[in-house]
Amino acid sequence: MTHPVLTALGLSGTESGTYLGNGEWATTADAGILEPINPTDGEVLARVQASSQADYEKIVERAQAAFKVWRNTPAPRRGEAVRLCADALREHKDALGSLVALEMGKSKPEGDGEVQEMIDIGEFAVGLSRQLYGLTMHSERPGHRMYEQWHPLGIVGIISAFNFPVAVWAWNALVAAACGDICIWKPSPKTPLSAIASVRICNEALKKGGFPDIFFLFNDAGTDLAQTFVDDKRIALVSFTGSTKVGRHVGERVAKRMGRSLLELGGNNAMIVDATADLKLAIPAIVFGAVGTAGQRCTTTRRAFIHESIYDDVLAKLVTAYKQVEGKTGDPMDPANLMGPLNSKDGVQAYLTAIEKAKAAGGKVETGGAAVDRKGNFVLPTIITGLANDSEVVQTETFAPILYVMKFSDLDEAIDMQNDVPQGLSSAIFTQNLKAAEQFLSVRGSDCGIANVNIGTSGAEIGGAFGGEKETGGGRESGSDAWRAYMRRQTNTINYSDELPLAQGIKFDL
Ligand code: NAD
Repeated sequence: MTHPVLTALGLSGTESGTYLGNGEWATTADAGILEPINPTDGEVLARVQASSQADYEKIVERAQAAFKVWRNTPAPRRGEAVRLCADALREHKDALGSLVALEMGKSKPEGDGEVQEMIDIGEFAVGLSRQLYGLTMHSERPGHRMYEQWHPLGIVGIISAFNFPVAVWAWNALVAAACGDICIWKPSPKTPLSAIASVRICNEALKKGGFPDIFFLFNDAGTDLAQTFVDDKRIALVSFTGSTKVGRHVGERVAKRMGRSLLELGGNNAMIVDATADLKLAIPAIVFGAVGTAGQRCTTTRRAFIHESIYDDVLAKLVTAYKQVEGKTGDPMDPANLMGPLNSKDGVQAYLTAIEKAKAAGGKVETGGAAVDRKGNFVLPTIITGLANDSEVVQTETFAPILYVMKFSDLDEAIDMQNDVPQGLSSAIFTQNLKAAEQFLSVRGSDCGIANVNIGTSGAEIGGAFGGEKETGGGRESGSDAWRAYMRRQTNTINYSDELPLAQGIKFDL
């Protein structure tokens, strides 16, 4: 029987995973089947027909044709199309939020929150459609004018991860659409239903508004089509969200064909709690940051550095809070629960392996440290102490609710440890000391793309540019001026004089 959450969105037990444009979903049945699994009970939610090479070709050809129309559509009019998508997403927020929670395994408020982010970025992109500003410059030559303008790039390829099955697409697609691009999306094979529902909602809204297709979708049963996508010269920008391992490969392949990539990869985020910190803020921030979404956010708090003077007190408070979360771990659709399951059995295995490695390296499990003996992919929220920051397991992002708690004696040491990992996504300090806060945010402070004061590492508002440094990939998306990644800059010089003066005063006498 089809799950009622699917039925509410018009999805059945068998779905096409390919949107070909012109209102057409592929009927391909021989390119493999994806079987998204409900992480809460291990049941298959539906069968999704994967896309074939021929489907992919059709999509890219139609996307190319669509671009020729879309690039000529005035940007504010493109904004109107995005507004219709945001309105439709608002209308379907409850149903789509439930599907995200069901398929990914995050809590219902987090599922709804993801859809809210889609709506928010849509509204941001509507405003943006009237603000795709370039600069004007003063030419060094008389009778000349110089300025820059931003043109759409073309086709933007979006490859997304399982943990934010819809928001990441919207961060990219709604901004790229306002910029005049056409988007082709390959979602995670673990969450194809959320992707199908999102594309349907948006494309139906576009159709009602008389707009052409701008969002295409394909699903890959393996990685062959994804590879074709990454290597395809017709895809001007590949925006990739996922692990550092796959992202490194994608980045290298796209660079090889001189394409553009935007990489949003793994994090290993830390929080520093100094001696002056307000623990009423710091403790819940650590707990939410570390166990929210069962530790499956790129911005999850994975390391906590606690000043030695308050270490014992903070650790005891954290363990007490973790025991409460342990008692409220279960079905993410039940509002009483604070933590849901991991998304997959692979995730559970990675969690168990990390705990074994931590113990072997001398770590002490203060609380948690085991899978839960019940249906689904449930594990206990875990705190481990006694490891050095440079131990291998602490240096590695394990996508699970494991927090490594460490002690520090002075702020320079804490900042050095927080920076001394390969990743550079999100970071935070809890302090009431102005100098400590400013040092943390200064050039000799956090080396991450996100640095917060008295706010945790996880969760970000759409208004800022989101992304991180080092092995997190260097990409920025969402707010601020991240839109520039989806456009190409052109510098223009116009001579309205009767002379042809050369730059730098060069003489070229004929
Ligand atoms: P993953 O790397 O396993 O998969 C990501 C995507 O890459 C999926 O769609 C997958 O099908 C695709 N893929 C796999 N092989 C490919 C290939 N050879 N070519 C092209 N695409 C390929 O990641 P995941 O397990 O889905 O997600 C978890 C990871 O994503 C974590 O590391 C997390 O930190 C990261 N993440 C980062 C951000 C960010 O904004 N920095 C946001 C969310 C998740």
